[in-house]
Amino acid sequence: MTAGRLIYVRLRNIRYLTRGEAIEIIRTVKEMQARSDSLRRNGKKIVLVPTMGFLHEGHISLIRKGRELGDDLAVSIFVNPAQFAPEEDFDSYPRGFWKDCQMTEKAGVNAIFAPDARELYAQGFQTYIRLEKLPMHLCGLSRPVFFRGVATVVSKLFNIVKPHTAIFGEKDFQQLQVIRQMVKDLNFDIEIMGGPIVREPDGLAMSSRNTYLTPEQRVQALCLYQSLKKAQERVISGVTDASDIIKEASAFILSHSQAVIDYAAVCDPETLEDVKRIDKPVIMALAVKIGKTRLIDNMMLGSEK
Ligand code: AMP
Repeated sequence: MTAGRLIYVRLRNIRYLTRGEAIEIIRTVKEMQARSDSLRRNGKKIVLVPTMGFLHEGHISLIRKGRELGDDLAVSIFVNPAQFAPEEDFDSYPRGFWKDCQMTEKAGVNAIFAPDARELYAQGFQTYIRLEKLPMHLCGLSRPVFFRGVATVVSKLFNIVKPHTAIFGEKDFQQLQVIRQMVKDLNFDIEIMGGPIVREPDGLAMSSRNTYLTPEQRVQALCLYQSLKKAQERVISGVTDASDIIKEASAFILSHSQAVIDYAAVCDPETLEDVKRIDKPVIMALAVKIGKTRLIDNMMLGSEK
């Protein structure tokens, strides 16, 4: 086999082979569970990185971290209909499965779990997981079904892939807190790890949705990062009033013609409740629409991070 050449072979599962290594592409719950059972019987440590695909360096950073942590690294690629409201971008969400395969192969992934929606949500599906408090803040307010969908699909993935460790990005800070809380509340025997936000060289947080931006919007999208950075500097210089920080950031964001703020908040990193006085590390979280594209970003204020 020529080094670096990619060869597709159809076996029981589709296997994607290169340089003698194989990524197993698994489409069914039964096969994924059987694979994980066998790995566990052989004492292997399984790590899972859940994604919706259209991978970028943000995802790959989590995958690299996962590679170091376990014997077997699985990535799920599933655009989860349960976390999109009817008016949201489920249909247009960017997809690029074979490019995702190439990127994950390079990063040393062993298996991709890529079911279709009917495989995870059979007719008559009716069991959802809903957290009481964390979704009452930030994204949960403007996306009322979002965290119910996330918690439900992630708990299904945990039962299917049976990982020892699962890794999520701090880019979706509230999501990471929701998963941590769910794992604690429901006694999932799974270690949850976070990975730092990966940014473009100019500071924009990487996101699959960045592809929606026109060149002009791409420039305006920088206002999220710039306002977070400015807020961080202001807190380092001694400002402690959260409302001053929010006012300043909001004014800066709104000076961009295509920007509409969904929320700009300074909150407790665990409870996500609003903080008035910044006298310990807090999270500043933003959701801003640039044109039709809703972007989120966050930064710790009051720490060296
Ligand atoms: P998604 O495919 O958008 O659902 O994201 C899958 C995982 O990748 C989630 O845990 C995200 O938080 C994480 N992620 C997405 N973008 C980034 C980024 N720029 N830096 C770090 N992690 C990210």
